[in-house]
Amino acid sequence: MNNETLLKNLRNVPDFPIPGIQFKDVSTLYKDAECLQIMVDELYEKYKDKGITKVVGIESRGFVVGAALAIKLNAGFVMCRKPGKLPAETKKESYMKEYGEDTIEIHTDAISCDDTVLIHDDLLATGGSMKAAYNLVRQFNPKKVYIGFIIELRIEGLHGRDQFDDSVEIETLIRI
Ligand code: AMP
Repeated sequence: MNNETLLKNLRNVPDFPIPGIQFKDVSTLYKDAECLQIMVDELYEKYKDKGITKVVGIESRGFVVGAALAIKLNAGFVMCRKPGKLPAETKKESYMKEYGEDTIEIHTDAISCDDTVLIHDDLLATGGSMKAAYNLVRQFNPKKVYIGFIIELRIEGLHGRDQFDDSVEIETLIRI
């Protein structure tokens, strides 16, 4: 069931960044103290017994709640970043976007095979960016990988979940 406080506070920006896109502006949830607390607390409740040792946040909107959640879970936080941003040796994964290709990176020493990982981003749309992050994290051979979002978009024929097989546990706080 949707969290009504989050749903009420989420700003929709029509035609951003291009005509036809209904942009879900999560900054209105991040700036509100009650919403920020709800997001961290609700995700914490979902993951507190899973033995998460690393939270991976996807740049950049996945860093905010991802880092707060990592602190609460007593886990480490790992940045999954756009190309050229991380200073040390990285693993890379490329994926197709609506217009052309994009790449994400993680430091090669960021995750170990002893880790249980939660990958977090603000929003699931086509699932392309999370699938790339998931493939990247799997290269480290961790014990298990969970996926958690604040928002899942199911409008306009989006089925981001279909990118993942049923064995992958995906949690979201709001479905639109
Ligand atoms: P996707 O890879 O298609 O699942 O897109 C997810 C990423 O793009 C997330 O990092 C979102 O922040 C961003 N995104 C895609 N569509 C939207 C939207 N309609 N509103 C807000 N953010 C979006």
